[in-house]
Amino acid sequence: MSELSDVRHWLNQADALLITAGNGVAPQEGALFDQRAFAQNYHEWSQRYPFKTLADALTYKFPDHFEKWRFWGDVILKTQTAKSPIALSALKKLTAHRPYFVMTNTFGHFFENAGFDPAHVFNLCGDLTQMQCSSGINHGIQSSLPAAHALAKATKDRSADLIPKCPVCQKPMELRVALNERFMPDRETNMALRWFLTANEDKRVVVLSLGLDENGSQLRDPITGLVSQFKSWHYVTFDANPLPESIQARSMRLDRIDPAELLPRLS
Ligand SMILES: [Zn+2]
Repeated sequence: MSELSDVRHWLNQADALLITAGNGVAPQEGALFDQRAFAQNYHEWSQRYPFKTLADALTYKFPDHFEKWRFWGDVILKTQTAKSPIALSALKKLTAHRPYFVMTNTFGHFFENAGFDPAHVFNLCGDLTQMQCSSGINHGIQSSLPAAHALAKATKDRSADLIPKCPVCQKPMELRVALNERFMPDRETNMALRWFLTANEDKRVVVLSLGLDENGSQLRDPITGLVSQFKSWHYVTFDANPLPESIQARSMRLDRIDPAELLPRLS
């Protein structure tokens, strides 16, 4: 297939890679908007509460902080113990020996778990392995994993001590995920991403875009804008979304084959 040989050629020549990835890259986040996947993966919760998707459950007003954290703990452990999606391992191979950056609106820590350098992964919508103070004031970022493990062990113990508290103001902590207006974005990595984009304006960059659904425009539109502007950039998408006319000659849409199958053939 000549499409593939073109993409291979672009990748062989590339000075740097930019990966834009939406929720579709991680089957674990399939439950985000998919009622059936949610009912399967979170059976207990779907029986007890009215929410039908993970997206609804994550913003649901639980009766108390304990119950909310017990649910969040379950989501954290389910996503962190799941196997890395195959597509991410194949993507990781393509990043070997060249600068790269990942921009993603997944918040399940999937890229870091697949071996990507956390300093080169910008999690636009946060990371559920991290937590922040629910006061909305920046009292530091901490790992949410110890709390998730402690809550998973406590089947009958509903001790308030299991709710993680802010070390500064003692308010309950909450996930560092874009669930409300208190979300604290990762400014440091966002800045590093901006430097990466600036440093590569004139270089040969291949953008690999995958898993972007209808909510992916916040990742798609600014990046196709950059590809349109920087003539040495190429854009390869594994999704069916239409491409802007200004970049079509330097783009490839490979949406007919599963990226997990296709990506290993590109290295
Ligand atoms: Zn605090």
